[in-house]
Amino acid sequence: MAFTCRQCGTCCMYLGDYIVIDHQIGQFEFACESVSTGTQFVARIDENKRELFCDHTFPDEHPHACRFLRPDGNLLRCTIHGDSPAQCKFYRCVIMRITDPAGNPLGTVTGTFNLHSDDTVLRTIWEHAEKIIPESLLDAEERRREYLTAHGYRVE
Ligand code: SF4
Ligand code: SF4
Repeated sequence: MAFTCRQCGTCCMYLGDYIVIDHQIGQFEFACESVSTGTQFVARIDENKRELFCDHTFPDEHPHACRFLRPDGNLLRCTIHGDSPAQCKFYRCVIMRITDPAGNPLGTVTGTFNLHSDDTVLRTIWEHAEKIIPESLLDAEERRREYLTAHGYRVE
């Protein structure tokens, strides 16, 4: 399935300790660090989100959220989309939605190949798939998808 970010902001709600502002270098420019990779970067607030960014109500109420996250209607949006670190740009929270043949949801798989499911049978099958189809393989996503399908699951 092609991943489309719904801009719900869930994945950014606890990244305040990981995307860190070192200091301000301009009105809408900040020297930052992506702590998990040790990468320094300059973040410029997207021009069309500067008004959103100037309202500090949300970060004040959510101290663990990324400092660049802001509400916009029903969305939570990244205000540095143009300059956000690579791990943010390429993050995919869901790459597979797994259901039984009747379409009842059983679990999801993240872009880092973590299964989220309470279904013990599915969890066992996924663990086996992890052993025989290492995520280092270029076609791991497609092969794991086929593996689940061969075991009677529907994967979208
Ligand atoms: S990547 Fe997923 S969790 Fe993060 S904002 Fe997009 S839809 Fe929400
Ligand atoms: S930089 Fe943007 S995408 Fe990355 S954690 Fe912050 S708000 Fe989310």
